[in-house]
Amino acid sequence: MTVLSQFVPLEMYFQKNPSEGLVQSGRTLARYTGFHCGGKADFFCDIYDIEGLKNVVMFCNIHSITLNVLGFGTNVLIADEGICGAVVRLTGLPFLLCERLDEARFRVGSRVSLQKLIGVTCKAGLSGCEWLVGIPASLGGAVRLNAGAYGHDICESVESITVMKPDGCLHTIDLSQRLTGYRQGPCEPDEILVYADMAFSADDVSAISERMTAISAERKRKIPPGRHAGCVFKNPPSIPAGKLLDELGCKGIAQQGACVSIEHANIIVNKSNAGSSDILTLIERLINKARSERNIELELELTIWR
Ligand SMILES: Cc1cc2nc3c(=O)[nH]c(=O)nc-3n(C[C@H](O)[C@H](O)[C@H](O)COP(=O)(O)OP(=O)(O)OC[C@H]3O[C@@H](n4cnc5c(N)ncnc54)[C@H](O)[C@@H]3O)c2cc1C
Repeated sequence: MTVLSQFVPLEMYFQKNPSEGLVQSGRTLARYTGFHCGGKADFFCDIYDIEGLKNVVMFCNIHSITLNVLGFGTNVLIADEGICGAVVRLTGLPFLLCERLDEARFRVGSRVSLQKLIGVTCKAGLSGCEWLVGIPASLGGAVRLNAGAYGHDICESVESITVMKPDGCLHTIDLSQRLTGYRQGPCEPDEILVYADMAFSADDVSAISERMTAISAERKRKIPPGRHAGCVFKNPPSIPAGKLLDELGCKGIAQQGACVSIEHANIIVNKSNAGSSDILTLIERLINKARSERNIELELELTIWR
Protein backbone atom coordinates (compact mmCIF):
# COMPACT_ATOMS: atom_id res chain seq x y z
CA MET A 1 0.00 0.00 0.00
CA THR A 2 1.41 3.40 -0.95
CA VAL A 3 1.54 6.00 1.81
CA LEU A 4 0.33 9.31 0.38
CA SER A 5 2.94 11.38 2.23
CA GLN A 6 5.59 9.46 0.30
CA PHE A 7 4.83 11.72 -2.65
CA VAL A 8 5.56 15.02 -0.86
CA PRO A 9 9.20 15.23 -2.11
CA LEU A 10 8.03 14.57 -5.66
CA GLU A 11 5.29 17.23 -5.41
CA MET A 12 7.83 19.71 -4.04
CA TYR A 13 10.24 18.86 -6.85
CA PHE A 14 7.65 19.69 -9.51
CA GLN A 15 6.62 22.89 -7.68
CA LYS A 16 10.25 24.01 -7.90
CA ASN A 17 10.64 22.81 -11.51
CA PRO A 18 7.33 23.70 -13.20
CA SER A 19 8.83 23.38 -16.69
CA GLU A 20 9.22 19.63 -16.07
CA GLY A 21 5.67 18.79 -15.11
CA LEU A 22 2.44 19.65 -13.32
CA VAL A 23 1.07 17.66 -10.38
CA GLN A 24 -2.72 17.36 -10.27
CA SER A 25 -3.29 14.55 -7.79
CA GLY A 26 -6.68 15.77 -6.51
CA ARG A 27 -8.35 14.94 -9.82
CA THR A 28 -10.39 11.89 -10.62
CA LEU A 29 -8.99 10.11 -13.66
CA ALA A 30 -12.46 9.35 -15.05
CA ARG A 31 -12.35 12.22 -17.55
CA TYR A 32 -9.13 10.84 -19.04
CA THR A 33 -10.54 7.42 -19.93
CA GLY A 34 -12.78 6.11 -22.66
CA PHE A 35 -15.28 4.75 -20.12
CA HIS A 36 -15.39 8.07 -18.20
CA CYS A 37 -15.36 6.35 -14.83
CA GLY A 38 -12.86 5.48 -12.12
CA GLY A 39 -11.25 7.20 -9.13
CA LYS A 40 -8.03 9.05 -8.35
CA ALA A 41 -4.40 7.99 -8.27
CA ASP A 42 -2.23 8.69 -5.20
CA PHE A 43 -0.04 10.83 -7.44
CA PHE A 44 -1.04 12.14 -10.88
CA CYS A 45 1.24 14.30 -12.97
CA ASP A 46 1.56 15.66 -16.48
CA ILE A 47 5.18 15.33 -17.55
CA TYR A 48 6.63 17.99 -19.83
CA ASP A 49 10.13 16.76 -20.59
CA ILE A 50 12.59 13.87 -20.32
CA GLU A 51 14.13 15.25 -17.11
CA GLY A 52 10.71 15.34 -15.40
CA LEU A 53 10.03 11.77 -16.53
CA LYS A 54 13.43 10.65 -15.29
CA ASN A 55 12.73 12.12 -11.85
CA VAL A 56 9.37 10.39 -11.43
CA VAL A 57 10.68 7.09 -12.77
CA MET A 58 13.71 7.05 -10.46
CA PHE A 59 11.65 8.18 -7.45
CA CYS A 60 9.09 5.43 -7.98
CA ASN A 61 11.83 2.88 -8.53
CA ILE A 62 13.70 3.81 -5.33
CA HIS A 63 10.49 3.79 -3.24
CA SER A 64 9.01 0.66 -4.92
CA ILE A 65 5.94 2.61 -6.07
CA THR A 66 3.85 1.35 -8.97
CA LEU A 67 4.09 3.75 -11.91
CA ASN A 68 1.47 3.70 -14.66
CA VAL A 69 1.58 5.72 -17.86
CA LEU A 70 -1.72 6.93 -19.22
CA GLY A 71 -1.91 7.44 -22.97
CA PHE A 72 -5.30 8.52 -24.29
CA GLY A 73 -7.03 6.17 -21.82
CA THR A 74 -8.96 4.36 -24.56
CA ASN A 75 -8.01 0.93 -23.28
CA VAL A 76 -7.95 1.36 -19.50
CA LEU A 77 -10.57 0.81 -16.83
CA ILE A 78 -9.66 2.46 -13.52
CA ALA A 79 -11.20 1.14 -10.27
CA ASP A 80 -13.83 3.38 -8.61
CA GLU A 81 -11.74 3.36 -5.42
CA GLY A 82 -8.80 4.78 -7.34
CA ILE A 83 -5.37 3.25 -7.62
CA CYS A 84 -2.32 3.03 -5.42
CA GLY A 85 0.79 4.60 -6.83
CA ALA A 86 1.59 7.12 -9.52
CA VAL A 87 -0.02 7.82 -12.87
CA VAL A 88 1.71 10.07 -15.39
CA ARG A 89 0.77 11.44 -18.77
CA LEU A 90 3.57 12.43 -21.14
CA THR A 91 2.14 15.67 -22.46
CA GLY A 92 5.17 17.89 -23.19
CA LEU A 93 6.69 18.75 -26.57
CA PRO A 94 9.36 15.98 -26.62
CA PHE A 95 6.54 13.44 -26.56
CA LEU A 96 4.64 15.14 -29.37
CA LEU A 97 7.35 15.15 -32.01
CA CYS A 98 6.63 13.65 -35.41
CA GLU A 99 9.84 14.16 -37.31
CA ARG A 100 10.68 12.89 -40.80
CA LEU A 101 14.06 11.12 -40.67
CA ASP A 102 14.36 10.36 -44.40
CA GLU A 103 12.17 9.47 -47.40
CA ALA A 104 10.24 6.70 -45.68
CA ARG A 105 11.02 6.95 -41.96
CA PHE A 106 9.60 8.99 -39.09
CA ARG A 107 10.50 9.44 -35.42
CA VAL A 108 7.20 9.57 -33.54
CA GLY A 109 6.70 10.68 -29.92
CA SER A 110 4.61 8.61 -27.53
CA ARG A 111 1.78 11.15 -27.28
CA VAL A 112 1.30 11.64 -31.00
CA SER A 113 -2.20 10.48 -31.90
CA LEU A 114 -2.55 7.71 -34.47
CA GLN A 115 -4.90 10.05 -36.28
CA LYS A 116 -2.12 12.62 -36.71
CA LEU A 117 0.45 9.99 -37.70
CA ILE A 118 -1.90 8.54 -40.32
CA GLY A 119 -2.64 12.02 -41.70
CA VAL A 120 1.05 12.96 -41.97
CA THR A 121 2.17 9.69 -43.56
CA CYS A 122 -0.76 9.57 -45.98
CA LYS A 123 -0.01 13.13 -47.13
CA ALA A 124 3.62 12.09 -47.68
CA GLY A 125 2.50 9.14 -49.85
CA LEU A 126 3.60 6.57 -47.29
CA SER A 127 1.60 3.46 -46.57
CA GLY A 128 1.67 1.29 -43.43
CA CYS A 129 -0.61 2.68 -40.77
CA GLU A 130 -3.72 3.65 -42.72
CA TRP A 131 -5.27 0.34 -41.59
CA LEU A 132 -5.43 1.77 -38.09
CA VAL A 133 -7.58 4.74 -39.04
CA GLY A 134 -10.30 5.29 -36.43
CA ILE A 135 -8.36 3.85 -33.47
CA PRO A 136 -8.37 6.74 -30.96
CA ALA A 137 -4.97 5.90 -29.49
CA SER A 138 -1.68 7.59 -28.67
CA LEU A 139 1.41 6.10 -30.26
CA GLY A 140 2.64 4.93 -26.83
CA GLY A 141 -0.57 3.09 -25.98
CA ALA A 142 -0.85 1.66 -29.49
CA VAL A 143 2.72 0.30 -29.52
CA ARG A 144 2.42 -1.01 -25.95
CA LEU A 145 -0.61 -3.07 -26.94
CA ASN A 146 0.31 -3.57 -30.58
CA ALA A 147 -3.01 -2.09 -31.62
CA GLY A 148 -4.31 -3.39 -34.89
CA ALA A 149 -7.19 -3.81 -37.26
CA TYR A 150 -7.97 -5.44 -40.60
CA GLY A 151 -5.11 -7.94 -40.34
CA HIS A 152 -2.46 -5.28 -39.68
CA ASP A 153 -0.90 -3.95 -36.51
CA ILE A 154 1.21 -0.95 -35.60
CA CYS A 155 4.37 -2.92 -34.87
CA GLU A 156 4.62 -3.89 -38.56
CA SER A 157 5.84 -0.33 -39.12
CA VAL A 158 8.00 0.07 -36.01
CA GLU A 159 11.78 -0.31 -36.51
CA SER A 160 12.93 0.56 -33.02
CA ILE A 161 11.59 1.87 -29.74
CA THR A 162 13.28 4.25 -27.32
CA VAL A 163 12.16 3.57 -23.78
CA MET A 164 12.95 4.83 -20.31
CA LYS A 165 13.84 2.04 -17.90
CA PRO A 166 13.38 2.19 -14.09
CA ASP A 167 16.96 3.49 -13.67
CA GLY A 168 15.92 6.66 -15.55
CA CYS A 169 18.11 5.91 -18.61
CA LEU A 170 16.91 5.89 -22.20
CA HIS A 171 17.50 2.75 -24.25
CA THR A 172 16.90 2.25 -27.96
CA ILE A 173 15.85 -1.28 -28.81
CA ASP A 174 15.64 -2.70 -32.30
CA LEU A 175 12.33 -4.45 -32.79
CA SER A 176 14.10 -7.54 -34.12
CA GLN A 177 15.27 -8.07 -30.53
CA ARG A 178 11.73 -8.20 -29.12
CA LEU A 179 8.80 -10.53 -29.70
CA THR A 180 5.52 -8.93 -30.72
CA GLY A 181 2.21 -10.57 -31.47
CA TYR A 182 -1.55 -10.21 -31.29
CA ARG A 183 -2.11 -7.27 -28.89
CA GLN A 184 1.36 -7.92 -27.54
CA GLY A 185 3.69 -4.98 -28.01
CA PRO A 186 7.48 -4.89 -27.59
CA CYS A 187 7.76 -2.98 -24.26
CA GLU A 188 8.57 -4.73 -21.00
CA PRO A 189 6.04 -3.88 -18.24
CA ASP A 190 8.48 -1.49 -16.53
CA GLU A 191 9.52 0.33 -19.72
CA ILE A 192 8.01 3.66 -20.76
CA LEU A 193 7.93 4.33 -24.45
CA VAL A 194 9.33 7.77 -25.25
CA TYR A 195 9.39 7.54 -29.05
CA ALA A 196 9.46 5.01 -31.87
CA ASP A 197 11.24 5.07 -35.21
CA MET A 198 8.85 3.90 -37.89
CA ALA A 199 9.34 2.91 -41.54
CA PHE A 200 6.68 3.02 -44.25
CA SER A 201 6.46 2.11 -47.92
CA ALA A 202 5.85 4.51 -50.77
CA ASP A 203 2.37 4.39 -52.29
CA ASP A 204 -0.03 6.54 -54.22
CA VAL A 205 -1.71 9.13 -51.96
CA SER A 206 -5.11 8.52 -53.54
CA ALA A 207 -4.79 4.73 -53.09
CA ILE A 208 -3.99 5.20 -49.38
CA SER A 209 -6.87 7.67 -49.01
CA GLU A 210 -9.29 5.26 -50.67
CA ARG A 211 -8.32 2.50 -48.25
CA MET A 212 -8.81 4.87 -45.33
CA THR A 213 -12.22 5.97 -46.54
CA ALA A 214 -13.37 2.36 -46.94
CA ILE A 215 -12.08 1.39 -43.49
CA SER A 216 -13.60 4.47 -41.84
CA ALA A 217 -17.00 3.66 -43.35
CA GLU A 218 -16.83 0.05 -42.19
CA ARG A 219 -15.75 1.06 -38.67
CA LYS A 220 -18.61 3.54 -38.50
CA ARG A 221 -21.03 0.69 -39.20
CA LYS A 222 -19.43 -1.70 -36.67
CA ILE A 223 -18.16 0.41 -33.76
CA PRO A 224 -20.81 2.07 -31.57
CA PRO A 225 -20.48 5.71 -30.53
CA GLY A 226 -20.34 6.64 -26.84
CA ARG A 227 -18.24 5.98 -23.80
CA HIS A 228 -16.29 2.76 -24.16
CA ALA A 229 -12.81 1.30 -24.59
CA GLY A 230 -13.11 -0.71 -27.79
CA CYS A 231 -12.97 -4.49 -27.54
CA VAL A 232 -13.05 -5.89 -24.03
CA PHE A 233 -11.71 -9.37 -24.86
CA LYS A 234 -9.03 -10.74 -27.16
CA ASN A 235 -10.28 -13.03 -29.88
CA PRO A 236 -9.95 -16.67 -28.79
CA PRO A 237 -8.28 -18.88 -31.44
CA SER A 238 -11.53 -20.65 -32.33
CA ILE A 239 -13.92 -17.70 -32.81
CA PRO A 240 -13.90 -13.88 -32.68
CA ALA A 241 -14.98 -12.78 -29.17
CA GLY A 242 -17.71 -10.52 -30.59
CA LYS A 243 -19.22 -13.37 -32.63
CA LEU A 244 -19.09 -15.72 -29.63
CA LEU A 245 -20.81 -13.23 -27.31
CA ASP A 246 -23.38 -12.43 -29.98
CA GLU A 247 -24.16 -16.15 -30.39
CA LEU A 248 -24.53 -16.39 -26.60
CA GLY A 249 -27.18 -13.66 -26.72
CA CYS A 250 -25.12 -11.09 -24.82
CA LYS A 251 -25.97 -7.99 -26.86
CA GLY A 252 -27.94 -5.61 -24.69
CA ILE A 253 -27.14 -7.31 -21.36
CA ALA A 254 -26.88 -4.53 -18.78
CA GLN A 255 -25.41 -4.01 -15.34
CA GLN A 256 -26.67 -0.70 -13.94
CA GLY A 257 -25.53 1.90 -16.52
CA ALA A 258 -23.11 -0.45 -18.29
CA CYS A 259 -24.41 -2.33 -21.32
CA VAL A 260 -23.08 -4.78 -23.92
CA SER A 261 -23.34 -2.89 -27.20
CA ILE A 262 -26.18 -3.83 -29.54
CA GLU A 263 -23.87 -3.15 -32.51
CA HIS A 264 -20.82 -5.11 -31.27
CA ALA A 265 -21.01 -7.76 -28.53
CA ASN A 266 -17.32 -7.38 -27.60
CA ILE A 267 -17.84 -3.74 -26.59
CA ILE A 268 -19.28 -2.55 -23.28
CA VAL A 269 -20.71 0.96 -23.34
CA ASN A 270 -21.06 3.22 -20.30
CA LYS A 271 -24.58 4.36 -21.13
CA SER A 272 -25.57 6.23 -17.99
CA ASN A 273 -23.09 6.90 -15.22
CA ALA A 274 -21.95 3.32 -14.70
CA GLY A 275 -19.12 2.89 -12.22
CA SER A 276 -16.08 0.78 -12.94
CA SER A 277 -17.50 -1.84 -10.56
CA ASP A 278 -20.58 -2.20 -12.82
CA ILE A 279 -18.36 -2.72 -15.86
CA LEU A 280 -16.22 -5.23 -13.96
CA THR A 281 -19.31 -7.17 -12.87
CA LEU A 282 -20.57 -7.24 -16.45
CA ILE A 283 -17.17 -8.47 -17.65
CA GLU A 284 -17.30 -11.25 -15.05
CA ARG A 285 -20.78 -12.27 -16.24
CA LEU A 286 -19.58 -12.50 -19.86
CA ILE A 287 -16.51 -14.55 -18.87
CA ASN A 288 -18.71 -16.97 -16.89
CA LYS A 289 -21.19 -17.31 -19.73
CA ALA A 290 -18.49 -18.14 -22.30
CA ARG A 291 -16.95 -20.62 -19.86
CA SER A 292 -20.12 -22.41 -18.84
CA GLU A 293 -21.87 -22.48 -22.22
CA ARG A 294 -18.93 -22.95 -24.61
CA ASN A 295 -16.01 -23.96 -22.44
CA ILE A 296 -14.04 -20.97 -23.78
CA GLU A 297 -11.80 -18.87 -21.51
CA LEU A 298 -12.07 -15.23 -22.55
CA GLU A 299 -8.90 -13.21 -22.03
CA LEU A 300 -9.03 -9.45 -21.43
CA GLU A 301 -7.82 -7.04 -24.09
CA LEU A 302 -8.80 -4.21 -21.75
CA THR A 303 -6.22 -2.97 -19.23
CA ILE A 304 -7.56 -2.80 -15.67
CA TRP A 305 -5.91 -0.60 -13.03
CA ARG A 306 -6.86 -1.16 -9.40
C1 LIG B 1 -13.78 3.67 -30.37
C2 LIG B 1 -12.60 2.76 -30.10
C3 LIG B 1 -12.13 1.94 -31.11
C4 LIG B 1 -11.02 1.11 -30.88
N1 LIG B 1 -10.58 0.30 -31.91
C5 LIG B 1 -9.49 -0.46 -31.70
C6 LIG B 1 -8.99 -1.30 -32.77
O1 LIG B 1 -9.52 -1.36 -33.86
N2 LIG B 1 -7.88 -2.02 -32.53
C7 LIG B 1 -7.21 -1.99 -31.34
O2 LIG B 1 -6.18 -2.66 -31.19
N3 LIG B 1 -7.68 -1.24 -30.30
C8 LIG B 1 -8.79 -0.48 -30.46
N4 LIG B 1 -9.27 0.29 -29.43
C9 LIG B 1 -8.63 0.23 -28.10
C10 LIG B 1 -7.54 1.31 -27.85
O3 LIG B 1 -7.72 2.45 -28.65
C11 LIG B 1 -6.16 0.72 -28.10
O4 LIG B 1 -5.90 -0.35 -27.24
C12 LIG B 1 -5.02 1.75 -27.94
O5 LIG B 1 -3.81 1.13 -28.29
C13 LIG B 1 -4.90 2.35 -26.56
O6 LIG B 1 -4.10 3.50 -26.67
P1 LIG B 1 -4.14 4.65 -25.58
O7 LIG B 1 -3.21 5.72 -25.97
O8 LIG B 1 -5.54 5.08 -25.33
O9 LIG B 1 -3.55 3.88 -24.33
P2 LIG B 1 -4.11 3.84 -22.83
O10 LIG B 1 -5.48 3.28 -22.86
O11 LIG B 1 -3.91 5.13 -22.17
O12 LIG B 1 -3.10 2.78 -22.21
C14 LIG B 1 -3.14 1.42 -22.62
C15 LIG B 1 -1.91 0.72 -22.06
O13 LIG B 1 -0.74 1.24 -22.69
C16 LIG B 1 0.15 1.72 -21.70
N5 LIG B 1 0.85 2.91 -22.21
C17 LIG B 1 0.31 4.05 -22.68
N6 LIG B 1 1.28 4.90 -23.07
C18 LIG B 1 2.45 4.27 -22.82
C19 LIG B 1 3.83 4.63 -22.97
N7 LIG B 1 4.20 5.82 -23.47
N8 LIG B 1 4.78 3.74 -22.60
C20 LIG B 1 4.43 2.54 -22.09
N9 LIG B 1 3.15 2.14 -21.90
C21 LIG B 1 2.18 2.99 -22.27
C22 LIG B 1 -0.71 2.04 -20.49
O14 LIG B 1 0.05 2.05 -19.30
C23 LIG B 1 -1.73 0.94 -20.56
O15 LIG B 1 -1.19 -0.23 -20.00
C24 LIG B 1 -10.38 1.11 -29.63
C25 LIG B 1 -10.88 1.95 -28.59
C26 LIG B 1 -11.98 2.75 -28.83
C27 LIG B 1 -12.48 3.64 -27.72
